[in-house]
Amino acid sequence: MGDQPLHVIIVGAGLAGIAVAHGLQKHNIGYTLVERETTPRDRNWGITLSWALPLLESLLPPSLTKQLQSCQPDTSLSTDSAGEQGVLIRDGFTGEIKLRAVYPGGVRRMQIQKTKRVLSTGLTNLQYGKRLVDLSYPSDGLVTAHFDDGSAIMGNVLIGADGGSSKVRRCLLSEEAAAQEVLPYAFMNFPFRLPAEKAKWLDSIMNPSVDVAPHPKKMYMGLFLLDKPDLEKPDTWVFYILVTWAIACKEDEENTDNRLERLRAHMDGWADPYKSVVDWLADDTPIGADQLRIWHPKEWDNRDGRATLAGDAAHSMTFHRGQGGNLAIKDAHEFVKSMLAVKEGKMTLKQAVDDFDKGVVARGEEVEISKQQAAAFHDYENFDNSPVFKMGIKPAGN
Ligand SMILES: Cc1cc2nc3c(=O)[nH]c(=O)nc-3n(C[C@H](O)[C@H](O)[C@H](O)COP(=O)(O)OP(=O)(O)OC[C@H]3O[C@@H](n4cnc5c(N)ncnc54)[C@H](O)[C@@H]3O)c2cc1C
Repeated sequence: MGDQPLHVIIVGAGLAGIAVAHGLQKHNIGYTLVERETTPRDRNWGITLSWALPLLESLLPPSLTKQLQSCQPDTSLSTDSAGEQGVLIRDGFTGEIKLRAVYPGGVRRMQIQKTKRVLSTGLTNLQYGKRLVDLSYPSDGLVTAHFDDGSAIMGNVLIGADGGSSKVRRCLLSEEAAAQEVLPYAFMNFPFRLPAEKAKWLDSIMNPSVDVAPHPKKMYMGLFLLDKPDLEKPDTWVFYILVTWAIACKEDEENTDNRLERLRAHMDGWADPYKSVVDWLADDTPIGADQLRIWHPKEWDNRDGRATLAGDAAHSMTFHRGQGGNLAIKDAHEFVKSMLAVKEGKMTLKQAVDDFDKGVVARGEEVEISKQQAAAFHDYENFDNSPVFKMGIKPAGN
């Protein structure tokens, strides 16, 4: 393969992997994108793409850029309006607005499942049902990805875009060095519907992208829209709640199944809209077990430019400043630029991947910033000193 054209193996068809694949395809660089899933996972949420939106658009073919509107929870929301209304932070106790972090360049709220489904169309070399289990390096300039079905794929460079608990990361570092840190907060993320009148009320008062609040009970709550399958029928609209609070008792520690009961026990003293919404939830609303896990990037050995990481695999963070998806797109954009430089003979693969890695690790400073933001949401008195007051939703650097 040494004299053959460059071939990239991308592990993980999440936001980062799909964006890399489109960018490479646009520049006629060979790739294979592999994904362990055969059907979409049931977990779903929205992300606010702000500063990375133009980068995503530059990687996609025009036919898909046109379809980005269909990836939104509310397909009638314009990017200008979403940018002007920004991210809304209220005081969870009084309900008053504390901060509106606007993004005048335009913001696109994207539902993660719709986004993956729409953006994976048009990729000519995407293989599902391939779970990476190991990497090997058969000779100079080559890397082999091994899968749980016994198959293998060879390329010149492999990029691990396989999410927060990345197997590629565990292959490049030791299990211990690659292990995520579990933050000491109870965490719930679950969807719900409401009767039409209540759904209309909630939709009319909540921020269309992000509506979140800290509360003196060392607690964070956010209300979000997940989907409007029929814009005219509010009883079809799906919302979701993200809630975290400082672990305070054994049940929180063990994350016992009575999650709705534990959430309701925390709702005393909350203002609307949060209070009423939790009151209105059906008693059998399912809430799955979840944890907040992060990973601070440490330098990895890229095996002479044959293996690297991007997105949550390289820097996993909490959603409290809404940066993970933006950074995943930035990584994808930078990686495609690096591969183009290699294709055009401007850099060796090793030089390009070394440079790319430096940028990824530097961007990983956001893991600590988001961790501080998470802590601040659970520290009501000091919340106004937190990163989001100084930085809004702008990138930290790079
Ligand atoms: C509730 C919530 C809210 C968020 N809100 C925001 C926000 O407002 N703004 C923002 O910018 N970000 C936000 N984020 C973060 C954002 O969603 C992530 O940073 C982003 O989706 C990461 O994309 P990724 O491609 O790196 O990883 P993932 O999306 O996790 O994709 C990884 C893919 O790799 C596959 N995979 C894993 N292991 C293997 C294997 N061994 N072999 C093959 N395939 C494998 C997985 O199946 C998956 O498809 C939020 C996250 C959450 C959970």
